[in-house]
Amino acid sequence: MRMRLKHLFTPHEIRGHELKNRIFSTAHQTILAVDGSPDDDMAAYHEARAKGGAALVVVESARAYGGDVTQSYYIDASRDECIPGYQKIARAVHRHGTKVFGQLNHGGRIIGSYRGLRLVPHAPSAIPDHRFHCMPRAMSTEHIKELVKAFGEAAARLMEAGLDGIELAASHGMLMAQFLNPLTNRRDDVYGGTEENRYRFVAELIHAVRASMGEDKVLGIRMSAEEIEPDGIDAAGWLRICSRLNAESGLDYLNVTVGSMMGLGGSIHVVPPMQIEHAYTAPKAGAIKAMVQKSVFVAGRINQPQIAEQVLANDQADMCGMTRALISDPEMPNKARAGRLDDIRACIGCNQACIGHYHQGVGISCIQHPVTGRERSLDVLPPAEVSRRVLVVGGGPAGMKAASTAALRGHRVVLCESSRRLGGQVLLAQALPGRDEFGVLVDNFKRELELADVEVRLNTPVDESYVAEHQPDVVVIATGATPYRPEVDIADDVHAADAWQVLLGEVNPGASVVVADWRCDWVGVGVAEKLAREGCNVRLCVEGVHAGQNLQMYLRDHWAGELHKLGVQVTPYARLFGADGDTVYFQHASSGEPIVLEQVDTLVMAQGHQPQIALEQALMDLDVIVLLVGDCLSPRSAEEAVYEGYMAAREI
Ligand code: SF4
Repeated sequence: MRMRLKHLFTPHEIRGHELKNRIFSTAHQTILAVDGSPDDDMAAYHEARAKGGAALVVVESARAYGGDVTQSYYIDASRDECIPGYQKIARAVHRHGTKVFGQLNHGGRIIGSYRGLRLVPHAPSAIPDHRFHCMPRAMSTEHIKELVKAFGEAAARLMEAGLDGIELAASHGMLMAQFLNPLTNRRDDVYGGTEENRYRFVAELIHAVRASMGEDKVLGIRMSAEEIEPDGIDAAGWLRICSRLNAESGLDYLNVTVGSMMGLGGSIHVVPPMQIEHAYTAPKAGAIKAMVQKSVFVAGRINQPQIAEQVLANDQADMCGMTRALISDPEMPNKARAGRLDDIRACIGCNQACIGHYHQGVGISCIQHPVTGRERSLDVLPPAEVSRRVLVVGGGPAGMKAASTAALRGHRVVLCESSRRLGGQVLLAQALPGRDEFGVLVDNFKRELELADVEVRLNTPVDESYVAEHQPDVVVIATGATPYRPEVDIADDVHAADAWQVLLGEVNPGASVVVADWRCDWVGVGVAEKLAREGCNVRLCVEGVHAGQNLQMYLRDHWAGELHKLGVQVTPYARLFGADGDTVYFQHASSGEPIVLEQVDTLVMAQGHQPQIALEQALMDLDVIVLLVGDCLSPRSAEEAVYEGYMAAREI
């Protein structure tokens, strides 16, 4: 596919620095810092994005003030020890003609724990938040002054390390936003009361940081154009703040996003999941761009170069943050510039291994691209010492990734899929409301198969005789899983169906449905939403503490909101016990007491999966190397499937 991306590859100048195109990576936490400092893994991670053609990398949020430091995987810019690590990043990124900024932040009342102990949060006023459930202490004037000084000192460290600029984080309900907001800033001193007073803290930070940076480096501020929280700053409020920011001669750009971590709903927009429209933040950035004379950056579900091109063509922003697009495919800018749009491994907005890993406290990655976050060990794909005949059985994510990776290494690879389509369970996941983008994973992986020259045989089941006849050197079994039915008493007169059957449109569910969800992932909530949208009265019983317990939290919270709007009744702690007639029985997972649901037309079972192990057993006596990957080992998620497929192919 050829498309002219005229705007995207026009350089942008900012305070004498040329950004070579309009693609940048926003500040995002990677959990790659070591002992509070950037190190080799983080440098390698950012270098991959720079090498792939991004014009600018903004390194993750760093704590500027020592008293705010929490986990050691956050960068602590209050200490000189951070400087060598930043230097490594600057050298690595600059090698590729890419600029690098650092971000300085203070969470205020948004603060975690340190070594298991919850820290004392500080904020403009003692107003509790709605997500982290912190009651902060109001900051003293001395504390505020100390913090402003600390930001200036931290900025000096980043400059000493050779960074090209600094960004202040006023977005997402962080401390700067807490000062700006009249509902979280109830002070009656010079930092509160009037709009001018509430702005004072931000102004002092801008001036302190600019004074430390000198005049030649770039200074920007990240802001939410709308916090999307009942107590958040609305769009009109931010426009008024923007006019003040516009008057700051030391400030060069406004980096626009939306949302706030002050509550669960606003937090969804910190990393919006696939159900949220592409580039939905661009009109808000455009409104700001129309009123300011500074550069305007924007981010928010801009996952494809074509979308970024449109944002730029509409004059809604000067730079497009494409963070997850670069996590999923670091080479995206180079591919786009070369007109190879079909070769881009587009981010699908699943949130699983990028922000999902962050919330688990483990290093960043991507479900589609296991190399991300593991650049130092995986970035080079070694050619095979001996080219082998590899038979991959199963065309789901695990099999496709194994096949393309093995072929890229020089093996002769045949991929057999028993059905008529590649994709495995992704084909089911994409059938859910708002989840069709999950299917882009299949398009991405199909393209990888084509580029690697894998021979794909559809409608081709594989058994022992097939393997004996074709005599591969290695068989990779990626046969996946099938729905699991627990050994509970379901009477013959119960209309019961598996979630997969619902997704395949094989079930007439009637008017009243109970979904029995054991795994608490996308299947139960997704099927419940689908059936509710189709007009069913849906009761969702989950064997967990809440629906979607095992999903990334922003995705989970978005889904919780959708189910609530649709009137789906959710019962937690519900273990399926049995069913007869139109009654379904659960047992409370904690109390052991019965939960009885009557007048049920259909019981939908989302009770997990069982591995397909028939081929593994059939090949036990054959003289062939067998590798197992994905759900046929143990049913889990697409992330494990892809990772295992990739790693197995590296071993062949
Ligand atoms: Fe995108 Fe999902 Fe990869 Fe995150 S894990 S970068 S959301 S494809």
